[in-house]
Amino acid sequence: MKQVQPSTREMERINWLEFREWVPAKIQTVLLPLGTLEPHGVAPNGTDILAPVAMAREIAPRLNAMIAPVVPYGFTGIMDAYPGSFTVPEEIFRGYVRAVLVGLAKNKFKNVILLNGHGGGQTAILNALAQEIGRETNTRILVVNWWSYCSDVTLEVFGEDGGHGAENETAYIMAIDPALVRKEHYKKEMATAMPPPNTWSAYPFLSTIMLYKEGQGYPTFDSAKAKKYFAKVNDKIARLIQETIEKWDMAGV
Ligand SMILES: [Zn+2]
Repeated sequence: MKQVQPSTREMERINWLEFREWVPAKIQTVLLPLGTLEPHGVAPNGTDILAPVAMAREIAPRLNAMIAPVVPYGFTGIMDAYPGSFTVPEEIFRGYVRAVLVGLAKNKFKNVILLNGHGGGQTAILNALAQEIGRETNTRILVVNWWSYCSDVTLEVFGEDGGHGAENETAYIMAIDPALVRKEHYKKEMATAMPPPNTWSAYPFLSTIMLYKEGQGYPTFDSAKAKKYFAKVNDKIARLIQETIEKWDMAGV
């Protein structure tokens, strides 16, 4: 039988001989996960790394995409003072990600999908780079911030809004590996509602669980809901990527 899948979709696991058979002739899309090290309540400091990596592995086959090695160090922000966390200076992060995007374009991927695991200033940098490198290399670049794009899924599965290190992110990690979430360390007082715009700010931020809405998004550690959430988030992200590529094709850009 003829092989209809590459032996692996992960770029660090495939050799150059097989890679050149698939890209770009049979595979035009690459998923690039990006994260950072940052505290997340009782979920791991690498939540923003682990989530997009697991997402990429889950959705790559149905999108016929390769997966680029993760960019693990990011532009962290107001929580970088917590143990085990740090930030890469903005200009260094920007330059490094720029080089990664140029490298993927050089390898003839037409569609570069940035699966971003971390918000704040990192999103703004990625949005700007998508435009800059897309224009420069004639590639099509999509930046996806899964936790905000899937806030309706959070509402649907948990009946409440989520937050940083809150119910939604904690559930997504539980679905990947329940042992990574340390429920015994959890106290409800660990959570703080996000300040409304222009009301107050603090560095370091006073809490590693930041609720988007007051009183909503406390982790409940429900593994059945976690699995459901993981599946629904991945479906919604895969749909967005597929529809985006179809519209790019339709427009001929
Ligand atoms: Zn996070």
